Formats: sequence, C-alpha cells, structure tokens
Amino acid sequence: MFDKILIANRGEIALRIQRACKELGIGTVAVHSTADADAMHVRLADESVCIGGPPARESYLNIPAIVAACEITGADAVHPGYGFLAENARFAEILEEHDLTFIGPTAEHVRLMGDKIEAKETMRKLGVPVVPGSGPVTELARAKRAARDIGYPILVKAAAGGGGRGMKLAPSENDLEAALSAARHEAQAAFGDDTVYLEKYLAKPRHIEVQVLADGQGRAIHLGERDCSLQRRHQKLWEEAPSPALNDSERVQIGETVADAMRKLGYRGVGTVEFLYENGAFYFIEMNTRLQVEHTITEMITGLDLVIEQIRIAAGAPLSLGQEDVTFSGHAIECRINAENSHTFRPSPGTITHFHPPGGLGVRVDSGAYAGYTIPPYYDSLIGKLIVHARTRNECLMRLKRALGEFVVDGIETTIPLFNALISEPDIVDGKYDIHWLEDHLSPNPTRVKV
Ligand code: ADP
Repeated sequence: MFDKILIANRGEIALRIQRACKELGIGTVAVHSTADADAMHVRLADESVCIGGPPARESYLNIPAIVAACEITGADAVHPGYGFLAENARFAEILEEHDLTFIGPTAEHVRLMGDKIEAKETMRKLGVPVVPGSGPVTELARAKRAARDIGYPILVKAAAGGGGRGMKLAPSENDLEAALSAARHEAQAAFGDDTVYLEKYLAKPRHIEVQVLADGQGRAIHLGERDCSLQRRHQKLWEEAPSPALNDSERVQIGETVADAMRKLGYRGVGTVEFLYENGAFYFIEMNTRLQVEHTITEMITGLDLVIEQIRIAAGAPLSLGQEDVTFSGHAIECRINAENSHTFRPSPGTITHFHPPGGLGVRVDSGAYAGYTIPPYYDSLIGKLIVHARTRNECLMRLKRALGEFVVDGIETTIPLFNALISEPDIVDGKYDIHWLEDHLSPNPTRVKV
C-alpha cells in the first residue's frame, strides 16, 4: 500500500479523497494555487504545497510543479480527482516515468476513451450498443452521404469533446454545412483538435450511466446505474440512483454488458460508461476513465467507498468483491450546489457569511465550504454536493426537501432555490423527465424560474 498520496485537485473532491486516504492510514499531500491558500482541502491535509498562481494552467494543470511537489514531500502516488489532469494520458505517463503511481487506468485506456470515435468503435466491437454515427468527417459531400445513411436530425460532435463543447445540431441537410464548420471551429478552440463526427440525434432520451470497477487483472463488476438526465447546457445538476426509468431486467442486462466489455478490455480502476436511453434501448455515447462528481449516489446505494477501492486497485490489489457481493439498497439523489444565481446561472463568487449544512439520517454533504470562506472566481462553481439516501424514492424526495430546507448558505447565490422548486414539480416527483426537461421548463424570463 502507498505511504503518501498527493491529491492533484481542489475543493470537495480533494477533501473526499483525503477522507479515503485517512481511513486507509495513508498520508495526504494537498497542492494548491495562491488563490486557494485558505481552502479546506489545504487545512485538512497532512502537508500542503503551493504549486503556482490562480489560473489553473499555472497550478492545477502545471505538471512539472506537481511532479516536483511529489519529490519534495516523498509522495508515492497521485490521485487526480475529476477535471484538471484526470483524463490526461500524458500526465499518467509522466508520473510513471518518475516512479509515481497514477491512481487511475493505464495511459493507453485514458487515451483510447479520450477519442470519442475510437471509444465508440472499441465499445461496438466489445458488444456494447452505440449511437448510430460516422467516423471522422472532413468534406461536406462525404458528410452529407453519411448523414443520409444515419438519418436526420444529426448531431455533429467533437472527437476530443468534453463538457458539451463542439456539439452542433443539424435538423436537416440544409443545416449540415453550418453545423460542421461551427463544431470544428469550437472543437479547435476548446481542444486544439478539429476532428468531428456525426451522430444520430435522439429526440427525448434519458442520460443513464453505468459505474464500473475493474482491477486490470481480468476482473470487472458493475455497480448499477445513475440517471443524470436533469442537465442544463449538458451540465448535470441532479442525479439519482437507481434510475426511475429502468426495470430490473434492463438494469442487470446493461450492467452485465458493460462489465463484460471492461473484462475483455482489461480495464483498471473506476470508470463510467455513459448511454442515452430511449424507447427501451441503450446507446453508448462515451466513457469517463475517472471518478465522477456523482459517484456518491452509487456509494449510498451499494455501501462501497469507491475511492478506497480505487486506491487499493492502483496499489495492485485484486478486486475485493465479486458481482454477487454487490447489493443495492434504497434510493439516492445528489444535488449539485453551485455558486450561481439559480435563475440566470451566472457565477456568484464571493465570501460565504453563514454556512449551515443539513444533517440527520441519510443526509451527506460533501463540501469544502465554510463560513468566512471566499470562493475564488477562477475555478468551476461547484461548492458542494447534497446527497440523500432513503429506503424508497418517495422517502428520498421527502428527505431531500427536508434537507434543502435546512441548508443555509449566505453571502453568495446558489442553486439551492432551483432544487427547492424542482422538488415539488409533478414530473420530477413522478420521475418523468428526459435530458431536455430542465431547459424546457426554465423560464425564458431570466428573473424567474418557471418550475
Ligand atoms: P461531453 O463529453 O461533451 O459531455 P457527451 O457525448 O457525453 O459529451 O454528451 C453530453 C450530453 O449531450 C449528453 O448527456 C446528452 O444530453 C447530449 N447528447 C450527446 N449525444 C447526443 C445524441 N446523439 N442525441 C441527443 N443528445 C445527445
């Protein structure tokens, strides 16, 4: 087992990883930018190292500074969390070149799944159902032919995509040229790679993803699914497990399909295989080769600590449990508490004057926020996650309502009022929503949320 892990991240996920390290008796090293000197992840770590200025490229993305911090502190492994360097294959290689363990999959698998065209082709060959689509498209004439085969509406997507960027809709052939050039332009600006491909646009799907755990030694299990259909601009806001839309046989079937694919691939670590789900069918869209923000709801219904499992696997241990040892219990919902206006979604950095997180049975708050903490404007706006767990979905909704009512965050604006509104919406109560529901129900008047 490792003696000391450096956590190359910030905020709630850095704290989350520290907690797992402490329970394993492993020392923790926090890294931080000059803007994060007062952050909770720095205060609670055993040691901390300032690695650069506020912009992420100077600090949390600064690979030489992170490797140097490992050398100074004697850390033997690095946990990248999510975002920043978590899906950077070159980072994983550089760590290995310095005899440091990257807590994650092999660089080869990170790279493979980072190219969405390659990822789809690989999954298709492994027996996973994929969205009908094309390979890379460059010239218009060929794109038109491919689009006719697939059928309109068509979504043009970036091969290097992430965060919903480089994605453009072409409702008909007349729109294809403009969508292609806009997607390529956006992909080039965001990822430095303008490779795009076509995909059948599904009209009213749900976003359903399967959590996997594999040891790189031929064993892989699935930990059920999460429904992340409530999104705004392709950003998830509310996630639940299990999905209100699946029945048990669909759940087992997709879970086993995914676990089997991971076994054949020889995958190592935690991973999430994302699908769109429409009319009873699953369509693979991408795989994330890292821990996800919403891993917490899977932890609540399985009782497993995914970060502890991840660290054990990275240290070379075989999977500690088989599929038959995984039991699912109850229902869990996560709400992402962002420092944003809940009507306009404009970021709201600033100082938190009062902070009172909810508690009680089945309530978990993962957050680095505290009264007196000043949220810097440089990073993403997630300041915490409220996770509730109960025996049934109805009890879970009641508990969520109760917990939201207790949550006090003063001094800044948050997404709490949005969740307070959502919790009483009949469609949400009934679990009847798709990936467009939230945007369709947000008022066009930016001063009021319709829901
Ligand atoms: P990213 O890596 O940028 O997040 P994804 O491929 O995961 O991109 O897609 C993000 C979101 O975009 C999905 O959750 C879904 O809401 C929407 N989306 C992606 N592909 C399709 C598609 N073929 N049809 C309809 N919606 C899609």
